[in-house]
Amino acid sequence: MDVSLRFRREMDKGLCRDTNPTAAVKMLPTFVRSTPDGTEQGEFLALDLGGSNFRVLLVKVMGNGEQKVEMESQIYDIPEHIMRGSGSEFFDHIADCLANYLDKMGMKDKKLPLGFTFSFPCQQTKLDEAVLMSWTKGFRSSGVEGHDVVSLLRKSIKKRGDFDIDIVAVVNDTVGTMMTCGFDDRHCEVGLIVGTGTNACYMEQMRNIGVLDGDEGRMCVNTEWGAFGDDGALEDLRTDIDRELDAGSFNPGKQLFEKMISGMYMGELVRLILVKMARSQLLFQGKTTSELLTTGHFSTSHIYAIENDKDEEGIASAEKILRSLGLDPSVEDCIATRRVCQIVSTRAAHLCASSLASVLRQIRDNKAAEKLRVTIGVDGSVYKNHPEFSRRLNKMVRRLVPDCDVRFLQSQDGSGKGAAMVTAVAFRLANQNAE
Ligand code: BGC
Ligand code: MG
Repeated sequence: MDVSLRFRREMDKGLCRDTNPTAAVKMLPTFVRSTPDGTEQGEFLALDLGGSNFRVLLVKVMGNGEQKVEMESQIYDIPEHIMRGSGSEFFDHIADCLANYLDKMGMKDKKLPLGFTFSFPCQQTKLDEAVLMSWTKGFRSSGVEGHDVVSLLRKSIKKRGDFDIDIVAVVNDTVGTMMTCGFDDRHCEVGLIVGTGTNACYMEQMRNIGVLDGDEGRMCVNTEWGAFGDDGALEDLRTDIDRELDAGSFNPGKQLFEKMISGMYMGELVRLILVKMARSQLLFQGKTTSELLTTGHFSTSHIYAIENDKDEEGIASAEKILRSLGLDPSVEDCIATRRVCQIVSTRAAHLCASSLASVLRQIRDNKAAEKLRVTIGVDGSVYKNHPEFSRRLNKMVRRLVPDCDVRFLQSQDGSGKGAAMVTAVAFRLANQNAE
């Protein structure tokens, strides 16, 4: 409850023009003003960058009565040296992948509209411009922060000269997820991601968005809640383990809330706890191995296996995983390891529920509704693959906002498809205005 109140204050701080410059939670305007009405249609390309995979997609939206979306997609690799290289190499690589995909589909001479899901904090002044504020989640390519990623991509495409594309929209993955779910459920006005990173967006009243002029209508706000705590607001809740993880990360001092929740970090938190317990003679008869001592060797997918809802299977997985790290665990060690996983992932689910509850209260207050009915579109590897995370999250949200009728709708490929959906809505609105 307390975390939820704190987060609500952070939201206010980010929304208000005077306090926004120093706010940790940036509450970024997305220039997405309307959720789908189900009549959108057309053929669109999409790029999905910033989750566990980089993908190029072709999305067909058939909204005339059928409300159907068809899509094809291909995953491309981003090699480590390109992740760490220069921004121009990075965008050249993306243009290469796009070219490869268009070749494969035999569509290089069609100038299709493209939506770009770019899942990082960006300052936007319009739908097709997004200045990267800072990389998160291990992306590090140089010379991109402070620049408009649409211009960078356009430049790389132009340099090739073998195809042309109409980049219509850049969206965050949370926005893509909200829009995808919104095509099926008109009550969907929140998008949530718990995957490699974590974040949420929601439909806010323009009059509350102090950083923008204009009071009419609504706009989707990307909260960038992963940065909650970067100004010290969570210091009393962060543990020595959280601090140790942060110190060893690519971006120390940044994304502190995300580092307590998301898939990129959860396994590492467990590993650091196991090391600490072993060193205190509480596990493995005080023994550690070089594997256990290596960053990244306990992945979040290990937690999924160990928290299997069947006790014996979970314990058996724990044994297998600990053995693969060169350890010789007793049954007690395996049980304790499982307990550590449960504690870390339950904390993550509950923290996530707290911030989500603040977003729901904000929407309820905006509508002055007695009982709010709202759908949350969700995507992300942790939400989808952890055996208990979604249940714990849903349960805690209902406890924190008992006066809301909350439904969770898991999106299928929401983050990528959603960019196409935003593009489709932009097209529908442009055509309506032309009529
Ligand atoms: C990024 C967000 C993104 C989230 C989930 C965070 O690290 O800052 O923009 O929505 O990860 O992918
Ligand atoms: Mg994604």
